[in-house]
Amino acid sequence: MVENFESKLSEYARLLVEVGLNVQPGQTPSIEGNVEYAPLMRQCVSACFDCGARNVVPYFGDDFTTREAFLRADAAVFDEYPSYMKARVDWFLEQKSPRLSFTGSNPELLKGVDPARIQARRKASGPPTRAYFDALTANRFQWCVGAHPTLAWAEKAFPDKKGGEALDALWDAIFSVCRITGDGKAVERWKEHIAATARRAKALNEHQFKTLHYTNSLGTDLTIRLPENHVWAGGSDFTPEGVEFVANIPTEEIFTAPRWDGVEGRVYAALPLAMDGNLVKDFYLDFEDGRIVNVHAAEGEEFLRHAIDIDEGAHYLGEVALVAYDSPIRNTGILFFNTLFDENASCHLAFGEAYPSCVRGGEDMTEEEQKAAGLNRSMTHVDFMVGTADLSIVGTTQDGREIPVFVDGNFAF
Ligand code: ZN
Ligand code: ZN
Repeated sequence: MVENFESKLSEYARLLVEVGLNVQPGQTPSIEGNVEYAPLMRQCVSACFDCGARNVVPYFGDDFTTREAFLRADAAVFDEYPSYMKARVDWFLEQKSPRLSFTGSNPELLKGVDPARIQARRKASGPPTRAYFDALTANRFQWCVGAHPTLAWAEKAFPDKKGGEALDALWDAIFSVCRITGDGKAVERWKEHIAATARRAKALNEHQFKTLHYTNSLGTDLTIRLPENHVWAGGSDFTPEGVEFVANIPTEEIFTAPRWDGVEGRVYAALPLAMDGNLVKDFYLDFEDGRIVNVHAAEGEEFLRHAIDIDEGAHYLGEVALVAYDSPIRNTGILFFNTLFDENASCHLAFGEAYPSCVRGGEDMTEEEQKAAGLNRSMTHVDFMVGTADLSIVGTTQDGREIPVFVDGNFAF
């Protein structure tokens, strides 16, 4: 039993809609999730109308159906992207509909599925949805990703618990890292948290470091060049109309983009990486002129290689993110097997697409201009954790001064 479950669930819905999406009167948000998330999604629908939404458009998916199709559908299906699906995202783009979605699907949903089918699906859905997701990553409308437990996820995160007991444990963990206590004040607590994160990002922006140098006892020795006019962001984002929203709940990170061609050295992963239901363990990546030139994993190396081989851009980094080792998520001691949580447990990097907003004016640049400015382009974006208790990061300023950014895994300022 989760204590005060009903009141915590409605506090969570209000947090996602009021802080995450910050729905404005007259907007038509879309809410996407699995059929078993219906109780939370219904509360979110009501919370949207409470904010003055014109209408709310829910979309229900189903893990069973997804897996069954990946195993049994005609192989050609994965090379196609249905036109009605494209029409749908185009309509949302036209309306600038705020988008709420949930993570929580079975981490092993696609285990045993032919990786070629997964890759074909990604390739087929990439171009038709590119405009929509470009607008999303450029923050042209509000969007938020929250979480919802599923039995499979809960039993993965809590291997010593079964069934309802595992689900309750995961709900408790999600509520606690989302600062939900049942007192109805999560919205206020998040506003404070977001303001504190913004203060730290401002300090990093004022430094405008030329490079960051990462070292730890795992063997990481990596130098990352940052683009000119890079922007550290964290906590909240703003649409062009100035509407503030929080794209990830929970979020603890402050992030920017590296120069795609400015990464040198070796970085070791600090945590396993869950990819399409498969775990990649104890891996490192070597970089030369920004490009991944060597990959090694003790387990699951082929899944990592597949992800990097999806396009040329996936061979380069697109994100550098700072998270204190002493963070609420890592302090739970739980490996969630879910990027939304695990990426907020630790400093991380991502290979693949960079967020255009990470360079001043980046949203208004053409693809060529973005690349010239240092922003990586790819159809993928995969976060992996590099933060350890002994991680040191030293920033070098434009005039060559060295300033500690991380000491023993935590912010130095
Ligand atoms: Zn991140
Ligand atoms: Zn990321």
